[in-house]
Amino acid sequence: MKRFLVVPLVLVLSLSLSGCAALQTRLAGTGRPTVITTLFPQYDFVRAIAGDKVQVSLLLPPGVESHAFEPTPRDIANIHRADVFIYTSKYMEPWAPRVIKALQGRPVVVVDASHGIELEAQEKHEDPYEWVGAFDLVPGYYQLVFSRVDGKYADPTMPIVFMQSAYSKQDALDAAKLDAKGLFEQATPTLLQHGGTISPRAGIYTLEFDQNRNDSIFSIRIETAGTYVLVTGHLPSEFEAGRHFFRDAQDRDVVSVVEYPDHKDGDPDHKHAHGKDPHIWLDPVFAKQMVDNIVAGLAQADPNNAAFYRQNGDAYKAKLQALHEQFASFLATIENRTILYAGHFAFGHFARRYSLEHKSPYVGFSPTAEPTPRRIAELIENVRKTGSQVIYHEALVEPRVARIISEATGARMLLLHGAHNVSRDDLRGGATYLSIMEGNLARLREGLR
Ligand SMILES: [Zn+2]
Repeated sequence: MKRFLVVPLVLVLSLSLSGCAALQTRLAGTGRPTVITTLFPQYDFVRAIAGDKVQVSLLLPPGVESHAFEPTPRDIANIHRADVFIYTSKYMEPWAPRVIKALQGRPVVVVDASHGIELEAQEKHEDPYEWVGAFDLVPGYYQLVFSRVDGKYADPTMPIVFMQSAYSKQDALDAAKLDAKGLFEQATPTLLQHGGTISPRAGIYTLEFDQNRNDSIFSIRIETAGTYVLVTGHLPSEFEAGRHFFRDAQDRDVVSVVEYPDHKDGDPDHKHAHGKDPHIWLDPVFAKQMVDNIVAGLAQADPNNAAFYRQNGDAYKAKLQALHEQFASFLATIENRTILYAGHFAFGHFARRYSLEHKSPYVGFSPTAEPTPRRIAELIENVRKTGSQVIYHEALVEPRVARIISEATGARMLLLHGAHNVSRDDLRGGATYLSIMEGNLARLREGLR
């Protein structure tokens, strides 16, 4: 049984005797373990690590946009029959935890390729807010009531942002986080005391709580129905003495349609599933960690070839290290450190690794939410301000936004390939993660000086 010891990097769903027996039977039946991967990078890493020792397949059909992807019942049935299932993370494939849960009792080795990569800590300190809520409001008067709890206010003052959103639900929340971050860092807040009125147009306020009163009350007047977002420097619940802080004119609770952090959700993991940048593979250093996780999973499913996988994994990591050094040495020399990207926000980890700025008009980390005209206008302004000769666009999505910016500024459109997936032609042409990233490096050399 020694060869089925749990490798700590990998979650094994069944270590029972029957599970091992089933696995061995299946290996004997097909000859080669079957591996299912979600995104192209893992698929390509498995090819490099395992060669023809496994049968690897990519869940995404060629050319399909990955963020909106959901597996079909047939895909799920295939995952149930596989020996190894490799996904990027619950942030990239929010459907994965559900599918994995249903695998219980089956001898499928599940690899979370992001294991050991710290996505949490990076953002925590950067957020100037603690709470965001989106509300669907009809015209009328509302009140925010902040109370002393155990004799005092949780803080004497609190910054807030209140504004109407062009989006609804989760998109409104994601947009508000980005807007609020900018406002908290750059705008001058309006100081407001008990009895003051918050306008959805004025952006950022500092609320000053009245130390002589048990409640400090601020009113809001809404003229047009729509989605409004409230961003607060502390959790509103810290100022609640027995009743909800957001009230309507009839003194009823006004409850958010969606909020962050999401306390209404029973699943403790779920609240982290929003707003974390899932694009770990675009950072070659994180990609090395992904390779380690995949090697561990393959070695566990197929211990006879473990040494082979480790050796190839090490060789491949050396290539990733060389790629990283190429990026690092080029990007250390340039003066203009801003990637102006008309695609969705995919290069955040990459930009952080090499101390670059990364501007995208998209909200959140998915290409499905179209950017607003205002955000496109901001990016046009940025192209003009920086004098950039190029605007980068993404792969597999019609570069409509890049074209608008290119036409407005004369900047040339260049591809920055997010490598989530590849087109049928690229796949036939032998595209690899390394060839895609080397293409990106060449085009960054063209566009950044
Ligand atoms: Zn993406």
